[in-house]
Amino acid sequence: MQWHQMTAPDVLQRLGVSATGLDDRQAEARRRQYGANKLREEAKRGTIRRFFAQFSDFMVLILLGAAAVSFLTALLTGEGDFADPVIILLIVVTDAIIGTVQEGRAEQAIAALQKLSAPVCRVRRNGQTIPLPAEEVTVGDIVELSEGDCVPADGRLLGAAGLQMDEAPLTGESFPVEKDSRRRLSGDAPLSERQNMVFAGTSVASGHGTAVITAVGMETEMGRIAALLAQEAPPQTPLQLRLAKTGKMLGIAAMGICAVIFLLGCLQQVPVTEMFLIAVSLAVAAIPEGLPAVVTIVLALGVRRIAAQKAIVRRLPAVETLGCATVICSDKTGTLTQNKMTVTRLSDGRQTVVPESAEGRTILTCGVLCSNGESDPTEAAILHAAAAQGLYPQELKEMYPREGEIPFSGEKKYMVTVHRDGNGRCIVVKGAPEIVLERCSARGNSVPLDAFTRQQLQQEIRHLSGQGLRVLAVARRMVMTLPAETHWAEDLCFVGLLGLMDPPRPEVRTAVRQCRSAGIRPVMITGDHALTAAAIADTLGIRQDGEQLLTGAELDRMDDAALTRAAAGCAVYARVTPAHKMRIVQALQRGGQVVAMTGDGVNDAPALRAADIGCAMGQSGTEVAKNAADMVLTDDCFSTIVAAVEQGRGIYANIRKAVHFLLSSNIGEITTVLTAFLLRLPSPLLAIQLLWVNLVTDSLPALALGMEPTERDVMAQRPVPRDQSLFAGGLWYRICWRAC
Ligand code: ADP
Ligand code: MG
Repeated sequence: MQWHQMTAPDVLQRLGVSATGLDDRQAEARRRQYGANKLREEAKRGTIRRFFAQFSDFMVLILLGAAAVSFLTALLTGEGDFADPVIILLIVVTDAIIGTVQEGRAEQAIAALQKLSAPVCRVRRNGQTIPLPAEEVTVGDIVELSEGDCVPADGRLLGAAGLQMDEAPLTGESFPVEKDSRRRLSGDAPLSERQNMVFAGTSVASGHGTAVITAVGMETEMGRIAALLAQEAPPQTPLQLRLAKTGKMLGIAAMGICAVIFLLGCLQQVPVTEMFLIAVSLAVAAIPEGLPAVVTIVLALGVRRIAAQKAIVRRLPAVETLGCATVICSDKTGTLTQNKMTVTRLSDGRQTVVPESAEGRTILTCGVLCSNGESDPTEAAILHAAAAQGLYPQELKEMYPREGEIPFSGEKKYMVTVHRDGNGRCIVVKGAPEIVLERCSARGNSVPLDAFTRQQLQQEIRHLSGQGLRVLAVARRMVMTLPAETHWAEDLCFVGLLGLMDPPRPEVRTAVRQCRSAGIRPVMITGDHALTAAAIADTLGIRQDGEQLLTGAELDRMDDAALTRAAAGCAVYARVTPAHKMRIVQALQRGGQVVAMTGDGVNDAPALRAADIGCAMGQSGTEVAKNAADMVLTDDCFSTIVAAVEQGRGIYANIRKAVHFLLSSNIGEITTVLTAFLLRLPSPLLAIQLLWVNLVTDSLPALALGMEPTERDVMAQRPVPRDQSLFAGGLWYRICWRAC
């Protein structure tokens, strides 16, 4: 019998797991039995293989050829001059050793980063829910899934509330699939119809649930198709591509020069072997083969430097793009603010009430019933305020057992729970006040919501929001029989308002100022009320004179062209949904901006991908958002982006310096040898010396330049235009001048 044919309790029994999850000893034994939860072991390139890989380079092959030729001539002429081939070999080997060591360092830096951004999930072990690297999950583990989580391995659902999964990576189905833990299915149900199962590689589009793991690693459905997926090489960054092109150009030029020298030499009756050696070493000298390697290493080590600033780069090209950012779009909650909310106000809609009062206690009780726990800071604040009045979630949930839920989402901006209350049901709603009020009616309301009361309410909401408070409304409804889910949040009876304070992060003000002096515009994007957003933006200096605030409703009324114009002067977007973020990114990009954008939820993923630099939150961010991002902020803070931009600019400047140095010395070598040759002077640099200089001594100082600390004034300059060539600002001219 397959897992999807059984009931959830049967599955648990068969796997030998209790509702408290595995204990440490069981988990250890099972990990040994089933192996680590990962797809196919990637073969790691060992040092030896890396060393020999150095010899596949075209230039190195030419050199080896040259060594062989000079060895043969020495042998044939019988003069016994074996110095040349031996020295060439020595140089080539030294070069290979340097290359191996450096590549090793770069690979280590990247591997360390991959570890930092490895996926994590929440697992019940020893009766407690703990975060665990996905790789350590094993069969029998009970995993908790909520919106934005990635499923670590295949599992049978034990419970689910409004759970919808994005199974596109597995089945190609682009619409979220609804799940139901209570179903039992027939054995031949195809993957896409197994509603009581979740699969590795898919993610939670909305709702939440728990599942017991039934298969890990290569045994998962994803593992079965993994064998079919080709492994892709990491793409080269734009900078690397541009440099490769430059290198090729130089190479072709050098070949031409070599041919000329060779011909001239032959006419002058210089011995052919000597000519050959000069030509080859000149070719090697001219081609800056150190270049791509230096750039890769500087980028990889730069990534490590950025990590020290609490930003983990997930894609190498982001390092380059960072330095070019012209706009940073940031979430408000948690990124500009501390995400430590406290309830500072309760209101019955007309005036402030104290928490001890009957009204206050009703508001808090509704708030607690309609909350899921401490993991959402908004709800944590409500739970704390209620606990201070002796209202504990455990007791309330026993008094009014929960029977249904519509989870909170940034799109709807409210959530609903259903509770048993005596013989009837109590529906509780909490959410953004204007949306909850829309769903309140005079019917069944203790206070009739006439036009006057509504106006008073609006007044009170504006009053609280204007102080920078996040305002939530709670409402409820008593019914004898429960209507269909789509009709739950209707005919509500207004209960009261909660005002939550979320203080700004102290370091953000400085970061905002730094941003502006660096020619970067900070922009706030939030689902909160316009007045709340404006109050915080003004405190932080994000909105300056003449800058606009736009709401989601206003965005909806604009077409793309109008939005492009409006986005140029807008500093705050309020009451927006994640879908708006995408439009904002695109509008800014159409206006020629290079956009960094933060995000944490599942629905932020498209905007994170569309942005030039998608930044996911390391702490509050979902796995889906992290996967879509170029960079992960480990402390969720706005200032971290600014610090990363600073490093990005420094790295770009260093690469410019290294390129500058390498190319000038290459061109210098060619000109020296060529001039000497044309003037019929003895060559100032022997072929062998040329090789040594070029392969061994050049790349080290270039690397040193590439790793210099960031100069202090990088943040006092304008951003580097993205398509500006590496040689802009007369760098070519300076290279040639320096070379001579
Ligand atoms: P932000 O972009 O600032 O994180 P959200 O999308 O999280 O904003 O929230 C938008 C609005 O939804 C809030 O202003 C609040 O009114 C409401 N809200 C936020 N969290 C909850 C919640 N847990 N339950 C009900 N409503 C909420
Ligand atoms: Mg939020």
